[in-house]
Amino acid sequence: ATMPPLLSAIANAGRHGVLAKSAVVMERLAQIDAVALDKTGTLTEGTPRVTDLRPLPGSGLDEDALLALAASAEHPSEHPLARAITGTARERGLVLAEATDFASAPGTGVTATVKGREIRVGAPARLFPGGATDLEASGRTAVAVLRDGAPVGLIGLADRPRPGAAATVAALTAYTGRSPVLLTGDNEAAARRLAAEVGITEVRAGLLPQDKAAAVREWEQAGRKVLLVGDGVNDAPALAAAHTGVAMGRAGSDLALETADAVVVRDELATIPAVLDLSRRARRLVI
Ligand code: ADP
Ligand code: MG
Repeated sequence: ATMPPLLSAIANAGRHGVLAKSAVVMERLAQIDAVALDKTGTLTEGTPRVTDLRPLPGSGLDEDALLALAASAEHPSEHPLARAITGTARERGLVLAEATDFASAPGTGVTATVKGREIRVGAPARLFPGGATDLEASGRTAVAVLRDGAPVGLIGLADRPRPGAAATVAALTAYTGRSPVLLTGDNEAAARRLAAEVGITEVRAGLLPQDKAAAVREWEQAGRKVLLVGDGVNDAPALAAAHTGVAMGRAGSDLALETADAVVVRDELATIPAVLDLSRRARRLVI
């Protein structure tokens, strides 16, 4: 027996590495006319490396002590920046202290008690006034480290675009007739730098999770049918607000995977334009 067209579209999407949670998703994908992309972990590989360690004068910390302190606080976090910081500490053979009272704020950073002191690691602009740094101006992602409320250092990080990111952006532009928009919680300069590398011109940076969702709703209210692609806890509200939300599977947070309408199982961005194509062809078969 032949499969009904929508079912065969789901099966086909699965073969391309995209798991659609229902047949309705394939119909909704066929309606997409605008795309918004998260940066870290979606357009980038999501495995940043630490490029700069800058203990502040007067902090009493050297590079290793700053890194160990940040890594201790970040240890419970799954965020790509946290993994980069703890991974670099491990490579350097540093001993981490135990963290208690751990809390994370999506799009902002983490707080924990380490050796009896409150350590915060996160976006400079959110942690202290005038927090933007020359590291950020140079296109790096930067996180500030605070001890009992006082800045003790900065850590610079850099991530690479995924292979094929530029080709995917070009394919999505051709498909929807407009350039995808980059939505990120990272700083403006780092976002613009990555956007230029992959061919994106419209960037919204420094966004909290609810700001990402608000941007999506704004376009939806203007009549667009938005596909949002993201991976993080910080993308969940926008994934829910979008006409269709797609999560990157391998590095995706549980919350993103649960909230999304479809999941890219193979860790390849190129499957997204391929599945959009498929959804349109399936619709033609149904109509
Ligand atoms: P994106 O939107 O690019 O995926 P996020 O919203 O996850 O980025 O993070 C935005 C910013 O918030 C980061 O660039 C960083 O400054 C800060 N941040 C978020 N989570 C963490 C964390 N676990 N450790 C340090 N900084 C963090
Ligand atoms: Mg992300």
